[in-house]
Amino acid sequence: MAESASSQTALARRGLMFILSSPSGAGKTTISHMLLDADPDIRLSVSVTTRPPRPGEIDGVHYYFVDEAEFDRLVEEDDFYEWAQVFGHRYGTPKGHIRAALKEGQDFLFDIDWQGTQQLYQKDSQDVVRVFILPPSIAELERRLRSRATDEESVVEARMERARAEISHWDAYDYVVINEDAPGCFAKVREILNAERMKRQRQTGLIPFVRELMS
Ligand code: 5GP
Repeated sequence: MAESASSQTALARRGLMFILSSPSGAGKTTISHMLLDADPDIRLSVSVTTRPPRPGEIDGVHYYFVDEAEFDRLVEEDDFYEWAQVFGHRYGTPKGHIRAALKEGQDFLFDIDWQGTQQLYQKDSQDVVRVFILPPSIAELERRLRSRATDEESVVEARMERARAEISHWDAYDYVVINEDAPGCFAKVREILNAERMKRQRQTGLIPFVRELMS
C-alpha cells in the first residue's frame, strides 16, 4: 500500500482497555497469550502482586512481585487503578503510563477478575471492553484445573469454589465467549477486539477526516 494511502486510512483513535476475565482454568491465559502474539497493537498491563512467583514466572513479565510493605506504599501513593485481595494475596493494576498511552492509541489487555473489572469500569467506562470466558462445563473446568501440577488438592478445591463464584458475575460483562477450544475462542475474542477498535467514539480522527471529505 502506498504511504499516502496508509496515512490517510490510519486515523487517530483512542486506545482501549480490553478486559479478559474467567474462572481460573477456563483458558483466559492461553487466549491472552494468543492475542498478544498475534496482535502487535495490544500490550499486556502487568499487575503488581504480593504473591510469591510460581516456577518459571518472571518479575516484570508475568507480574511485578513486591512485598507487603511495597504494596502498602503503592496504595498510599494512589499508584493503583484498582487493587483486590485474591487467595490471601493482593493484586493491583498500576496506573503508571496507562492513561497517557490510551490517548496515544495504545491498547491494553487486562487479565483481571470481576472485582477489578468493576473498578476499572467505574473509573473509565468509555475505554473499557469487558469479555468473560466460560468453560464448556464444570467437569471440564475441574479437569483443566487438576492437570496443573503446581497446586495442592486444597488449592484446587478452593479454586473450584471460587470459579463458581466468579461465573456468577457473567452478566457484568459486555461479551461472553464459551471456550470449547482455544482456536475457536481466540477467533471470537479477536473479532470483538477488532470491532471495538472501529467504534465511532474511539476514532478521534474522524471529525477532521470527514470535514476533509466534505470540503
Ligand atoms: P494468579 O495468582 O493465579 O496469577 O491470579 C489469581 C487471580 O488474581 C486471578 O483471578 C487474576 O485474574 C487475579 N488478578 C491478577 N492481577 C490482578 C489485578 O491487577 N487486579 C485484580 N483485581 N485481580 C488480579
